[in-house]
Formats: sequence, C-alpha cells, structure tokens
Amino acid sequence: MTNETIGDLHEDNWRQVCESLRSEIGEAAYQSWVKPMTIRGVADGAARISVPTRFMRDWVVAHYVDRLGVLWSALDASIACVDISIQPERSIKADTENTPAASPAPPVTEPMAAADKSQVDNRRASDISQVGISGPLDSRFTFDNFVVGKPNEFAYAAARRVAEAASVPFNPLFLYGGVGLGKTHLMHAIAQHICRQDPKRTVIYLSAEKFMYRFIRALKEQNTVDFKDMFRNVDVLMIDDVQFIGGKGATQEEFFHTFNALVDQGRQIVISADKSPSDLEGMEERLQSRLNCGLVADIHATTYELRLGILQSKAEQLKVDVPPKMMEFLAHKITSNVRELEGALNRVVAHSQLVGREITLETAQEVLHDLLRANDRRVTIEEIQKQVASHFNIRGSDMHSARRARSVARPRQVAMYLAKQLTSRSLPEIGRKFGGRDHTTVMHAVKKVEELRECDSSFAEDVELLRRMLEG
Ligand code: ADP
Ligand code: MG
Repeated sequence: MTNETIGDLHEDNWRQVCESLRSEIGEAAYQSWVKPMTIRGVADGAARISVPTRFMRDWVVAHYVDRLGVLWSALDASIACVDISIQPERSIKADTENTPAASPAPPVTEPMAAADKSQVDNRRASDISQVGISGPLDSRFTFDNFVVGKPNEFAYAAARRVAEAASVPFNPLFLYGGVGLGKTHLMHAIAQHICRQDPKRTVIYLSAEKFMYRFIRALKEQNTVDFKDMFRNVDVLMIDDVQFIGGKGATQEEFFHTFNALVDQGRQIVISADKSPSDLEGMEERLQSRLNCGLVADIHATTYELRLGILQSKAEQLKVDVPPKMMEFLAHKITSNVRELEGALNRVVAHSQLVGREITLETAQEVLHDLLRANDRRVTIEEIQKQVASHFNIRGSDMHSARRARSVARPRQVAMYLAKQLTSRSLPEIGRKFGGRDHTTVMHAVKKVEELRECDSSFAEDVELLRRMLEG
C-alpha cells in the first residue's frame, strides 16, 4: 500500500473521528478547523492529514491533534499518531499581497460552479481597491445574489445602508447569526459594493483568525508599528467571525485599540459573529459594550419560504431546470442552514449532469440519502428536556433549577447525556441550557449515565427508549 492509498476503512474511521470531534468542540470550531482537513493516507502507524494553510496547521497542532490521535486510536489501535501537513486546496492564495495591478479578480475562497466562472472572469482587479492585508472576496457574494426574507431582512437592510452611505450611518454594524446563514455573504457584498462604487475608498476585510495571526506575527517580528499602520488609512474595516478573538488577551486588546482609533476617526467598522455582543464568550466587557454601541442586527434561522426562494435563485444561477416539487422537498427537509441547502442542490445537479439524466425527486432522495437522514435526526436540547421531564414525571423547569434531589437530578443528567449524544452542541453550550451549569457538570452527568447504563439494566432501557423516541 502506498502512502496515498487510503481505503474505505480509514475513510470511515476518519469520518467518525470528525463527527466525534464535532460534538465535542461545537459547530463553529468544527467548520473552521476540522472540516477543511483532508485525509491523505495511513502509513506506519501514522494517519496523515492535510490542511490548506500554515496557520491552520499550527492551530490544529496546538489544539486538536492530540485529541484526534486519541479518538482515532480508539477506532483503530494501529494508529499511534496523527501527522498534519500543509497542502493548499488549489492555487488559493492566503492574501492578496503583492498582487500585480493587472491581475484578474481577487482569488475566491471556494470552488465555483461553472456558471459563475464567466462572471468572475469579466471582473477587473481595478474594481477592488482592497489594501494588502485584506482577505480574498468571493465574487458570488453580492447583494444581488442574496435572497431576502423575514429572517434576514433587517441584517440585509443594515448591510445595504452601510454599503451605500456616503458617511457612517452607525458604528459598528454588528451582524450575528448561526453558521451558514449568510454573514460572510453580506460582508463580502458590502466590501465589493463599496469598492466598486468608489475605488478610492479602502476596505479591509479580514477573518478574526487572520487578524489574530497577523498580530501575533507582528509581535514575534517586533513590528507592531507596521501592523498598526496597515489600519491607519482604512475607510472601512470588516472583521468576520469575531468570536474567535474571545479569550485571546493581547489580540483582543489590540483589536480594541484599533477599533477605538478607527471609530474616533469616523471610519466604518463592520463585525460579524455567531452570537450577540453580550453573549460572546471570553470577551472583555468594555469591548462588548463598544460592540453594542452601533447597530446590532441578527440573522435568524431560515424559514421554509426563504429556503425555497434561495433554491430557486441558485437553480437559476446554475442555469438548470429543477422540478418545483424537488425544491419544495429540499426546502422542507434541509432546515439546518443555507450552506447545507446549497450543497444539497449542487450535489443533485452534479449527479444528474454526470449520469446524463434529468433531475427528479427520486434521484434527489437517493443522492442525498445521508444528508436527509442527518437532518431528520436533528433534535433540539429543548425537545430532549421536555421528553425526559415527562418521562420521569418531573416539571420541565426542573431541568434548569438548582434542586439537587435525586428525583430531579438524575433525569436532568439523563437529559444532559442525551443532549451530548443526539445534538452537536458542545459541553459548555449544553451546560448553559441547563440553568447555566458548568461544562464539567455536563461531563460528570455523561459519565454517570454511562456508568449506570452498565450496571442497571432497567435504567439502560429507559435511556434507550428515550433515545429512540427522540430520534423517531
Ligand atoms: P455564514 O458566514 O453565516 O456562516 P455564509 O455567508 O458563508 O454563512 O453563507 C453560506 C452559504 O449560503 C454561502 O454560499 C452563501 O452564499 C449562501 N447564503 C446564505 N444566505 C443566503 C441568502 N439569503 N441568499 C443566497 N445565498 C445565501
Ligand atoms: Mg462566515
């Protein structure tokens, strides 16, 4: 077996490892760090994984590599370690630094559908007056391509206002919402609109991770003056996924200073995060309160109508005929987020083009078999709490209460255990849903229930029954 031969077994194990890690670290961290990893092979007791950038490698090595090894060796004892290397996905550049003026459009962040390519090729670099440090913008993420509905109309209106205003209407604009609901899309749309309308205005768009990375690099190279200089003349500063700065002391401090300096000079700031400013973990109070000062706009979970609208718009962009019944079916079934919805449509379209057959509801069901099942199984912590409370005949409010009598504490532990098993929520998130308990309490509950299941068969049956009802 060569190094590059992976094999179904290893692929399966890798998928399982990813899923376990996902439930441990939560969806946001999973999307940022685990999803971009690719399995390259297994050789000599080492599993080889690649990531697209050096920064990711350093981060994964610092935070996740040990855990990956433990999870993997639990599935396959012959794996002793996990080896992380860098392998760029395609010719994606990390920055637009040193991009010659005559080069084509800025690099895009994700592979494009064929139909979008011409759009990009038609664009010119002079459209964009981003400065060096700025991250790449995805030319598909425009206001025109954004489908507006009840859940996102406020965020959309706020984003448009910032993009079109000659002076700063509110500062900062803080966009927040769950994964895959369109935050990055709106941010790119703002940046591209401003750059196109007035090429003299400078816009910096950065992920918070990159901000952090640049700052740490500047600290190491002892040129924080240069770092600060990069932001001095910017008209619009946009930082995406700012939750990643939480808990990072020095970076947060620097961000705070940069932020204040720019606000004082009347420059526009746009921030996105997965939570509201007040819910951001590890964020200093003074920074939270500054973030709260401008306009805070949240993007809610999608509705059926919005999902259907998005599918129709995407099908149009892809220039394919998709039966309305199939779109209705997908809009009903895939409720998690827009990214998954879009992915599902792309998969069905790609499949039909590959096998040269028309798209039908039946083929869609077949192609999306795994995805549909995953969406079916999605239960919420609230449902678990309700079901468990009624099963054990206690009040729903006891799930959050401080009461410690065993008659309520045990069911509560069962609910925490099921929340861990059946949702992708992290331990701290679960703890919060149970009356603001600590993640160690949840960990303890999970362990306790596992122990009891081993030694008490009627308890084990209870838990199994509940699980089946919830998965139903
Ligand atoms: P987030 O940054 O909130 O995690 P993204 O902005 O990356 O989410 O959106 C995920 C995908 O869904 C992108 O491809 C984006 O274009 C698409 N998307 C999200 N919301 C909409 C919308 N309202 N209309 C069209 N596409 C959308
Ligand atoms: Mg995003």
